Amino acid sequence: MTTFNATYLEIEPRELVTYLLRESGQFERESVDTANLLELLGLDYVSFNFDLELPQEAKQTVGDARPRALISFGDRIIATDSELDENRMRFSILHEVGHFVLPHHEHSLYVCDDIGLSPSSRLVFEKEASQFAADLLFLGDRFALEANSRAINAPTVKELATKYCASFEATARRIVEKSFRPCMLVVFKKEPRQSGDELAQPPTWSVRYCIASATFKSQYFEELSGTAPPEVATAVTRPGCDIANSHKIEVAVRSTSDQKELQFTAEFFSNTYNIFCLLTPK
Ligand SMILES: [Zn+2]
Repeated sequence: MTTFNATYLEIEPRELVTYLLRESGQFERESVDTANLLELLGLDYVSFNFDLELPQEAKQTVGDARPRALISFGDRIIATDSELDENRMRFSILHEVGHFVLPHHEHSLYVCDDIGLSPSSRLVFEKEASQFAADLLFLGDRFALEANSRAINAPTVKELATKYCASFEATARRIVEKSFRPCMLVVFKKEPRQSGDELAQPPTWSVRYCIASATFKSQYFEELSGTAPPEVATAVTRPGCDIANSHKIEVAVRSTSDQKELQFTAEFFSNTYNIFCLLTPK
């Protein structure tokens, strides 16, 4: 007798996003209400101090990563660390919803740390859950339509972040990822300073990661290294400087392969933790 093997049609994450947003009434809203989603899925939510109250065995993560959110499938509970700010709490809840609904993510317990939840995570399940969270947070395709009809600049980042109740970083990333135009987001981090001599100098801000739109990647390059110009870094990180008060300069980017230089417009702005730069062709 001949035996055939069957495979089954799997629901796409994109279809799941649309279904969840529609069924929990999010398309009638300006931004996602996590409570409606949790109710639809029959999940409870709690917030507590993970440092003090999380059982020791759940805290075992690699290196100095700190647990930030969890989902227990059996108890149908999502929990987030009470130390998280509002935007991170929302994103973390949606990330755990991702684990709950995505095919192949069924598991008794996920304890997700800040490294797993970060945009630079290399773990497949963590990346998938965060991608799913971003799709929910930005209401599927709605954000892309809005972002593409606006200028790519700091005021747009601020406006859309406020509207979607998302962090500036997540919003800036999404604008670039979904852009039809060539643009790149470069995120800089402050390098730690050690001795007295170093402390007297302005801090160095070096590239943490970059994200480019599809057209930027195909026309220019995918990654970038270097540091933010010190005078611009000082200007955008001064106390009280609003994220929309950006600094625009012309920059040259040299190719490491053929040493050719390309000219770009670079708009720098900051939320004080990071410096961001939107790079567009001159
Ligand atoms: Zn996770």
